[in-house]
Amino acid sequence: MDISPAHNQSLEDLARENVLHPFTSPKGLLETGPTVMLEGKGARLTDAKGKVYLDGLAGLWCVNAGYGRIEIAEAIFEQAKKLPYYHQFSAMGTEPGIYTADKVKRLAPGRMARVLFGCSGSDANDTQVKIAWYYNNLKGRPQKKKILARNRAYHGVTVAAGSLTGLAYVHDAFDLPVLPVIRLTCPHYYHEQQPGESEDAFCDRLVEELKTTIEREGAETIAAFIAEPVMGAGGVVFPPKGYFEKVSKVLKDNDILFIADEVICGFGRLGTPFGADYFGFEPDMISVAKGITSGYQPLSAVLVGEEVWETIRDASAHLGVFGHGYTYTAHPIACAAANANLDIMEREKLFDNAAETGAYLQEKLRQRFAGDPHVGEIRGAGMIAAVELSADPATRKTFDPSKGVGKAVAAEAMSRGLIVRPMMNDALAMSPPLIITRADVDEMVD
Ligand code: PLP
Repeated sequence: MDISPAHNQSLEDLARENVLHPFTSPKGLLETGPTVMLEGKGARLTDAKGKVYLDGLAGLWCVNAGYGRIEIAEAIFEQAKKLPYYHQFSAMGTEPGIYTADKVKRLAPGRMARVLFGCSGSDANDTQVKIAWYYNNLKGRPQKKKILARNRAYHGVTVAAGSLTGLAYVHDAFDLPVLPVIRLTCPHYYHEQQPGESEDAFCDRLVEELKTTIEREGAETIAAFIAEPVMGAGGVVFPPKGYFEKVSKVLKDNDILFIADEVICGFGRLGTPFGADYFGFEPDMISVAKGITSGYQPLSAVLVGEEVWETIRDASAHLGVFGHGYTYTAHPIACAAANANLDIMEREKLFDNAAETGAYLQEKLRQRFAGDPHVGEIRGAGMIAAVELSADPATRKTFDPSKGVGKAVAAEAMSRGLIVRPMMNDALAMSPPLIITRADVDEMVD
């Protein structure tokens, strides 16, 4: 057997012949080939052709501490030498997983009681659905199964998480959703407002929709509501003021669990530890991934609040084991990376930089693009933003989606050395590493 690299072929050709790329046109890739990144340092990447980019998206919203962190690399190396793997099944454990659980719980909002690790945001949200069902079954309410989720939400792509996601391209031709998901309106005032409706009135309408949906379906059939504090992949959508406060109250009144999908917002993206801190609400359960390791290792976690934890703990008297978890739950190398990453965030006060330099980013984007005849909305806070292009800002008219205007602008930005991500409605998303400086922001906006 010979599996040594075919040196007579370029990286691009090897990729074209062998790789099925996520969220990429398979046929398109055959023509263009991928851009292959070789190195990263700080907020900058270098591709295989030597071109340097300012990474305005922190990989996929995840490299919060920036590239080239030797401290994280060394923690990974040391752990790999000492103990590369052991599991957490049947009351076993390793040092890094225990420390990470403690650190994450102390950072988290609300009253979180226990942490269960996974490998991706998608598996975290699958776990959330199972725990919401488990909890209600244990409480003698097996009919409480439906999940409330919002249009344009992104919760991942596995069978359960993909069902929660409210974007057609994740469902189309995959036979999703398969879960009993009840969809709610996307809380994007810019696109969803009715003529003459104020932002407050829009918020009240969304809350009313939630109430009438619960009445129609029956609170006794609904297990949970899941929401990203700021929707990421759906287009960087901030809800109207007061939304989460009002939604939380309705959920509490109806005994419906609130799952906060903090996969993007968690670990400083908004200049606060979590999105729930930014908006001031207390979820019952939280999903995290991405920023927990700044992408240096795959790791996710589900945090369960006290009420859910106590029910799970008490039921074990008759159920025995909690029958869920992965081979790689609390993988020691991933958790070692998380611990080193969280130490950096604390020591370098990266959440504060996200707030301060983030405020500068927001201001610069508005200075530069407000009133531009092709810009409809500029939105964001901290280190997450979107500039949405528009065919006619006065009427909020979008471009014909088949024209791919956002994609073309993002491709042009990339050719000039800036990575931004084109999203639906031709919004250009930005979510840079939390370490960026004012000079980086100036370069990005220019
Ligand atoms: N939840 C949110 C809010 C996300 O943004 C993502 C990924 O972008 C996921 C879940 C899924 O995470 P993963 O791609 O690690 O499965």
